[in-house]
Amino acid sequence: MTAPYLGDPRRTIEVLQKYEFVFQKKFGQNFLIDTHVLDKIVAAAKISKEDFVLEIGPGIGTMTQYLASAAREVFAVEIDRALIPILEDTLQDYSNVTILNEDILKVDIRKLAEEHNHGKPIKVVANLPYYITTPIIMGLFEGEVPIDSITVMVQKEVADRMQVGPGTKDYGALSLAVQYYAQPYIVANVPPNCFMPRPKVGSAVIRLTRHEEPPVKTRDTKLMFRIIRASFNQRRKTLANGLSNSAELSFSKQEIQEAIEAAGLPAGVRGEALTLEDFARLTDCFVKKHG
Ligand code: SAM
Repeated sequence: MTAPYLGDPRRTIEVLQKYEFVFQKKFGQNFLIDTHVLDKIVAAAKISKEDFVLEIGPGIGTMTQYLASAAREVFAVEIDRALIPILEDTLQDYSNVTILNEDILKVDIRKLAEEHNHGKPIKVVANLPYYITTPIIMGLFEGEVPIDSITVMVQKEVADRMQVGPGTKDYGALSLAVQYYAQPYIVANVPPNCFMPRPKVGSAVIRLTRHEEPPVKTRDTKLMFRIIRASFNQRRKTLANGLSNSAELSFSKQEIQEAIEAAGLPAGVRGEALTLEDFARLTDCFVKKHG
């Protein structure tokens, strides 16, 4: 028996009916049923036969089939136990796929890259469960995982937040964190009718290509991200007020004012006007005073 080719939405329906699959809202299950979108994701991820690919949330294996045809090896992590027998069926013809029934947030991805890719940078590809987009992406970047690129379907609004610069309403801590680690590029906008069931929000495919070196240097990256979070916690306040009201920071009002001045920023500036370079410079002004 050969596995059903899932690019065709009729096959998806057949598989779901055969296994009497019940969608779990809590797992963010919206399965892709559009071949053009699948082709676009795989092309944007630039996968070759050399590549080890981590797929997060394979669902019934639709994209996994595409990835397995393009890559050397695919490792797919799926939390929903009900999907495992389905995946064993739909991926039976692909000898280069491993399925793990686990919560991705509990997987040691660094170890996975060691064991399956000799610690070399891996490619991550996924139609992400939207409820955990940020922890997944930040976990990959901050967890010292060797990453080449992350090509993922996310909520459109989140893709916009990752890509924008200062002075726009979408600009915030996520924009700065993503842009510190990677170059974002929105590959395509994807409407709800490309999924089953249809999500209530628009979606977009975004590729994050890991920088070899961060675009800015700071003496204390952790402090810089604490400052960034504090600056955006209270968006309508000035930077000085945001930093002095933050529970994460313990600088006095005067120290904050002096650091802002030393960084060459106007006293009444708001956090949302600062670039990544500004945040790096401001951080170093705090370090200089205390370090
Ligand atoms: N890749 C499939 C597709 O494109 O049709 C499914 C994508 S669906 C948006 C998200 C998938 O992630 C679901 O299969 C869901 O069960 C799985 N998932 C949700 N939370 C997860 C977690 N914490 N760890 C691993 N998989 C998860």
